[in-house]
Amino acid sequence: MDIPVAPAIEGATHLHSGKVRDLYTLDSGPYAGNLLMVASDRISAFDYVLEPGIPDKGEILTRMSLWWFDQLDVPHHIVSTDVPEQVRGRAVVCEPLEMFPVECVARGYLTGSGLLDYRATGEVCGVALPDGLEDGSRLPQPIFTPATKADLGDHDENVSYEAVVASVGAEDAAALRELTLEIYARAEAIARERGIILADTKFEFGRRPSGEIVLADEVLTPDSSRFWPADAWHPGSPQPSYDKQIVRNWLTSAESGWDRSGPPPVLSAEVVELTRAKYVEAFERLTGTSFR
Ligand code: ATP
Ligand code: MG
Repeated sequence: MDIPVAPAIEGATHLHSGKVRDLYTLDSGPYAGNLLMVASDRISAFDYVLEPGIPDKGEILTRMSLWWFDQLDVPHHIVSTDVPEQVRGRAVVCEPLEMFPVECVARGYLTGSGLLDYRATGEVCGVALPDGLEDGSRLPQPIFTPATKADLGDHDENVSYEAVVASVGAEDAAALRELTLEIYARAEAIARERGIILADTKFEFGRRPSGEIVLADEVLTPDSSRFWPADAWHPGSPQPSYDKQIVRNWLTSAESGWDRSGPPPVLSAEVVELTRAKYVEAFERLTGTSFR
């Protein structure tokens, strides 16, 4: 899968590009030695990076993530938003951490890969769930459903808690689970007050040289979470959501003409505009501030 080449940034060395974000090390200036995490306007679906990007997506998601870091009151990796002009508004300076190789997912509702696993086994990541749950059902209590980070272009794979213990040790596994569920509970309550269901979300944590475990990456954006409008929640079928649903629906509709045998077609202008509007709406509804 092709990722567009990350733009050169003066005073920074490119480290890595994912489907959506580009990571650099800052070589000079007041934050030398720290990382620069840049959110592009790229959008991915069905494990492809789509064309074109969604205007302002990088800025919307960066600001949303920063807003959440502010709300959460947990140690996090953000150092500054004073970034090179070229990426202003859609990048953050963050501490370089030793990342745990675990996607720390919390689910309060059942859908997506969790639903598939439940239908096959009655469990998600080894957590047994009651009978009779449907797509969109609220779980009796939020659960920790870790996944391993996949290589580019691959799906993340759900794993059991025991697999996390085997990977990072019992003590860190317990800490990651506890932090994930604690932060999810806090965020879920905040979103709920604003009429939004936080169905599930993925956190990544890293370790400081001091040993402290710190919340990293982006947090609680539509790229890492499922947000559903609370007033439209009807378990039993897929929920409307504040993310790539418009794009996914279009790609799987007859209109796009995509048969999934090769790369997806270029998004229509209408799909791009509707998707942008969804991201803006999610940002404004959550933060209670206008995007522009
Ligand atoms: P993908 O969709 O392929 O996951 P992406 O656009 O989300 O791509 P990533 O490849 O996830 O981009 O790029 C972000 C990378 O930065 C991740 O590997 C993440 O673990 C890492 N990262 C986030 N915060 C930190 C940090 N503070 N220190 C070190 N690495 C970090
Ligand atoms: Mg990622």
